[in-house]
Amino acid sequence: MPTEVDVKGLVEKDKEYLWHAMHQNKSAHPVIAAQGEGAWFTDADGNKYLDGVSGLWCLNLGHGRKEIAQAAYDQMVNVSYFPLTLSHVPAIELSAKISELLKAPYTTFFSNSGSEANETAFKIARQYHAQNGNPGKYKFISRYRAYHGSTLGALSATAQANRRAKYDPTVPGFLHVPPPYSYRSSFGDQPNSDLMAADYIDEVINWEGSETVAGVIMEPFISGGGVIVPSKEYLTRVAEICKKHDVLLIIDEVVSGFGRTGEMFGYMHSDNVQPDIITMAKGLTSGYAPLGATAVSEKIYSKFQGNDGKKHFSHVSTYGGHPASCAVALKNIEIIEREGIVDRVARLSDSILSELRELTAIDKVGEVRGVGFLYGIELVEDKESKTPAPEEYINSIIAACKDKGLIIGRNGDTIPGYSNVLIIAPPLSSTEEDLHFVVDTIKEVFYSVQ
Ligand code: PMP
Repeated sequence: MPTEVDVKGLVEKDKEYLWHAMHQNKSAHPVIAAQGEGAWFTDADGNKYLDGVSGLWCLNLGHGRKEIAQAAYDQMVNVSYFPLTLSHVPAIELSAKISELLKAPYTTFFSNSGSEANETAFKIARQYHAQNGNPGKYKFISRYRAYHGSTLGALSATAQANRRAKYDPTVPGFLHVPPPYSYRSSFGDQPNSDLMAADYIDEVINWEGSETVAGVIMEPFISGGGVIVPSKEYLTRVAEICKKHDVLLIIDEVVSGFGRTGEMFGYMHSDNVQPDIITMAKGLTSGYAPLGATAVSEKIYSKFQGNDGKKHFSHVSTYGGHPASCAVALKNIEIIEREGIVDRVARLSDSILSELRELTAIDKVGEVRGVGFLYGIELVEDKESKTPAPEEYINSIIAACKDKGLIIGRNGDTIPGYSNVLIIAPPLSSTEEDLHFVVDTIKEVFYSVQ
């Protein structure tokens, strides 16, 4: 730590003044980050941890990249702020870079976060249909267990009961369908249950009337809802269904974008998928600065063009596409490409997954799932019943990992309000030694807690 830290004073101030997300924080001693280096951070008490969830799955290049800090500094001392009602250099360069990475002409609208990127997508989709002669197309379909953000529109697409309960009713016009969750499929225990989940979307669109449906939003791999990894054919089938009904396919790449899954974007694992709208945040800047992005295909953007003064997108965000955030994103992408991060994730992920899968020998480990550097371990009482594992067991695993210097997460919503999936998503730039530490620690903990 740079200077002596008054930990007791900090904890008292933290308890008094700082409102933590998702916690009632008056009792627990918070983990206060004091220093970071690569995949590791040291807390104010001097404990060192490997961040096995990359913050909130965003710190993809780890802490302390001086080049990124320099890019922000250089931008801030030059053009410190400029709105995107006009234009600035890093936003222009970044929008062109995003289109290059998407391997097709896409035009990007910038915001500040993943939630806003999705809100922006919903508004664009409704306006697109209206300006394309179909003003009745306003509904959106998302999947149970999905997380698409915290603002009211994004929360309406989020279909995790516990996250919505205190804030319902959410925005009208959002429908939910079963996820392609083969371990507990709504369509029975059969090999193609995920394709049945895709076909169910077709059925829902038919029942609702395709003339009322604006879009389907999904992550290529449900992350926060418990790491759900369908077959590659699932998304291809969904894309076909959307096309058939003139329903926009909105792909939420907030977690999966920029290499997390071993492709630059998660949808690229599947054939013949050309999303109409793609939303991004987190990995876009590796968490170094807030930034959201909503990229739309030519088909969509063309309907917002013309000189009649009526078709523009009536939406603005003061800080959306902040020059410093765009400069950070450009440097972040430059490093991802220079260091071959995406290929590295693809190359290392299978062996990590197969090591973690050894844990299925334990009766309480129902399933180990994963893609790229995104893994979920579903904990159950026993393999036969698949009843979600008790709270104490899940907490004891997380606490034992923390005692050994590894932070892991927990998510899932398998039964409403209950999360029984451990989440592991280390920084994409973690060294091989770091990755061994993650796997070895988890294994050690599982065998000792049994
Ligand atoms: N979409 C997905 C898939 C996410 O995981 C998240 C955040 N965890 C969001 C959207 C919302 O992003 P933000 O927290 O930046 O608003």
